[in-house]
Amino acid sequence: MTVCDSCDTTDIWTQFLQYIKKRCSATAFGNWFEPIKVLETTPEEITVEIPNIFVKEYLLTNYKEDLCAFLPVNAKGEPAINFIIARPARKKPPSDAVPLLSSQEKSDHAEKFGVKLNDNYQFDTFIEGPSNQFVKSAAMGVAARPGQSYNPLFIHGGVGLGKTHILHSIGHFIRKNNKRQRVQCITTEAFINDLVYSLRNKSIEQMKRFYRSSVDVLLVDDIQFLQNRLNFEEEFCNTFETLINQNKQIVITSDKPPSQLKLSERMIARMEWGLVANIGIPELETRVAILQHKAQQKGLQLSNDVAFYIAEHIYNNVRQLEGAINRLSAQCRLLDLKITEEVVEQTLREMLQHVPRNKISIDQVLKCVAAVFQVRVSDLKGSVRTKEVVLPRQVAMYLACKLINGTLQTLSDSFGKTHSTILHACKSIEKKVACNETLRRQIGMVERNIHS
Ligand code: ADP
Ligand code: MG
Repeated sequence: MTVCDSCDTTDIWTQFLQYIKKRCSATAFGNWFEPIKVLETTPEEITVEIPNIFVKEYLLTNYKEDLCAFLPVNAKGEPAINFIIARPARKKPPSDAVPLLSSQEKSDHAEKFGVKLNDNYQFDTFIEGPSNQFVKSAAMGVAARPGQSYNPLFIHGGVGLGKTHILHSIGHFIRKNNKRQRVQCITTEAFINDLVYSLRNKSIEQMKRFYRSSVDVLLVDDIQFLQNRLNFEEEFCNTFETLINQNKQIVITSDKPPSQLKLSERMIARMEWGLVANIGIPELETRVAILQHKAQQKGLQLSNDVAFYIAEHIYNNVRQLEGAINRLSAQCRLLDLKITEEVVEQTLREMLQHVPRNKISIDQVLKCVAAVFQVRVSDLKGSVRTKEVVLPRQVAMYLACKLINGTLQTLSDSFGKTHSTILHACKSIEKKVACNETLRRQIGMVERNIHS
């Protein structure tokens, strides 16, 4: 028997709330349950108004069984709740915002802990390619309709691939086109500093009010720094929930996807609510376009051949491409040189990622791995799974990924393996190399043979 069989339908929501109130934190209750309004109850179903879609997801994910116990249940055994999303409220001050901060206090706070947006980081200076198109269009969607498309937008990717650039572009766009929206950009470090400062100065309420009622768009850079900062994580999570509940836009960047961050399950789940988008290493053509763009900004003439030459040798970090252009620009101005491949090789020698001699082929990799590990090339390409061949086969995949600047598809074709097998091999060897001296030496030997 469910509880609702025995009680008055008008009362069941209040009973449900009383039950829940004892079982969740006051913050969670205030954020998630208080804003819900009951519009209608019948013995068959209950209709509630919620501030946003996340409340529905939150309830159904976390409290489905309790809802079933208290409320009517449909034929599928699920709580019979009809969710209606309220129209965004027109800037009503939230209940905990009294007294509000003065505008002087707000701007002081915003300045002290916020990050100034870099004027060079705009959408129109962000060069698109297959590796970053998805992120860019998601970011533009968020910038055009803050709080109404994906919330939060979570952007992850390696160092120097343009995460901060995209984050600031969103901020610039909103400030330009939607002047009423208050944009605050912070690094995770700055948030922690803010919290520490506020605790020390007994101004924590002021800080909470700032984030919860004086910000419409919160841009958070490098959330990975929240790892292992337990107390701060909780405060961040509370701020996060309050903002999302008010349809305030949040954008987060990170060097890893949410699931790989060492954060609480609660925090990870929150970050996965909206859209998680990866920014990848740009392909050769995109790298060339980026180089040409950066050269043009510096008034530097770069032939296509030279741009390709640089892009072939600096391939996993856009910041380094930029560094290369800066260095070339300085050198060539100073010595009044024309940029040729030789000049590039001399000027950027230590930046170029592999020796710009003959290109390395898969066959070379296979032969050298086979020689050092004493197996046959055909074993490396085959699918026998004995220990003697699995390790060298993984080493071959790992070195092919590392040394050959081809796509994952060409590698997977050459080995006759799926993308995920190749990626798994790379990760597995990376891990082993870190703690296995013999393997490290063997791989070093293979690499020297390949290059000689
Ligand atoms: P991340 O935050 O991911 O470490 P950044 O956003 O700081 O990387 O980017 C590093 C540098 O590379 C910045 O100067 C940025 O302008 C530039 N950059 C990265 N990706 C692109 C791109 N697609 N187009 C133009 N510049 C880019
Ligand atoms: Mg960054």
